[in-house]
Amino acid sequence: MKVGFIGLGNMGFPMALNLMKAGYEVYGKNRSQGKEQAFAAEGGRTGLSPAELAARMDVVVTCLPLPADVEDVYSGPEGLIANARRGLVLIDCSTVSPGLSRKLYAKACEAGADFLDAPVSGGTTGAEAGTLSVMVGGREDAFNRVRSVLAAFGKSISFVGDAGSGSAVKLINQLMVGIHTLAVGEAFALARQAGLEADQLFGILNHSFAQSKIMERHYTQFIAKDAFEPGFALKLLAKDMNLAADMGAEAQVRLNAGKKAQALINQAVQEGYGDADMSGMYKYQETEDRKRRESGERKHFAVFLPMLDAEKSARYRAEHLQFLADNRAAGRLHTNGRFVDGAGGLVIYRGSSLEEVERLVKQDPYVKLGARGYEIHEWEIVLADN
Ligand code: NAD
Repeated sequence: MKVGFIGLGNMGFPMALNLMKAGYEVYGKNRSQGKEQAFAAEGGRTGLSPAELAARMDVVVTCLPLPADVEDVYSGPEGLIANARRGLVLIDCSTVSPGLSRKLYAKACEAGADFLDAPVSGGTTGAEAGTLSVMVGGREDAFNRVRSVLAAFGKSISFVGDAGSGSAVKLINQLMVGIHTLAVGEAFALARQAGLEADQLFGILNHSFAQSKIMERHYTQFIAKDAFEPGFALKLLAKDMNLAADMGAEAQVRLNAGKKAQALINQAVQEGYGDADMSGMYKYQETEDRKRRESGERKHFAVFLPMLDAEKSARYRAEHLQFLADNRAAGRLHTNGRFVDGAGGLVIYRGSSLEEVERLVKQDPYVKLGARGYEIHEWEIVLADN
């Protein structure tokens, strides 16, 4: 059986190698050439475009970073769907929204092909060992036809229902991964400040109710080594938390802890931690704590955002409010509100210096995109009941 594999990254590369080890003829495709050369050096075949793979393979697996990359590879005249031969099974192992999986499924069916959303869990170690957990949505007969392909990189393989349900299960997994990641970061930062020995603490927690796969992974592979090369990049976890938040909003289920985790993870990405492994949330926690301890008393800064362009203000309002929500979750916001006469708004930040707050204000979409100007003053709060 001929298998195409698009996206030879941290996950895709070892998954494609395992397909080869299982005896499949595997054709690899990646955006950057280096990965394809490394794949060829391991005995893999290369040189076919997505359109050629769709026309010539029995199965094409994709493992791509962002939903936009997945859309790109599947859609358009040069994409997998437009060029799919009848009977082709497309398997998307990327983490995307259930909505996107359902859309690609419908288009693939129209083109006479089949599509399975088959996101994976278990990290790069699971991908290398061929022990991933695979959760699959789509048509069960297509699933049964490619079960042995999935078994080349997966150990726990579950068919969970209609198209999109594999992606839904994966996002629920990621919601918990995000919350556990924050728990681990906070726990080990607290332990360090409390003067506890980290290896011993890990040994105890690992045999207590605090135990989790995420703690084991984050501590043994990253925190204990003080090395945060991914693994699983924090920016991808931010993507997953945003998708999980959308799923919660759609289902009208409040994700209280999840939203807090989402905001903090997005904040860490904005602060430059996006390319670190997700366990880097520990490093972010520690760095932020140290900054706060060193800067001593936190001051308040009143930021007036005078109206420059009412039309742009209306257009970018949602992004501005998300920006404020992220800063609120990170403890940087005291209060905010808008002037009802349309003159603009006022945001009270907490920070250690005017420069630090100004750097932040310049990232506000309102300011960045020219909807509002800004004026900053350090502000001494005098509460009425003091
Ligand atoms: P990665 O960034 O390491 O790899 C993605 C690869 O896809 C890169 O090599 C990139 O060059 C390639 N690529 C991007 N766009 C492309 C295109 N248009 N055509 C061909 N190649 C393209 O990401 P990863 O960590 O391997 O994650 C891939 C997917 O799997 C993501 O959706 C992620 O959320 C999910 N995932 C990752 C892990 C993990 O631990 N890393 C675990 C489970 C699921």
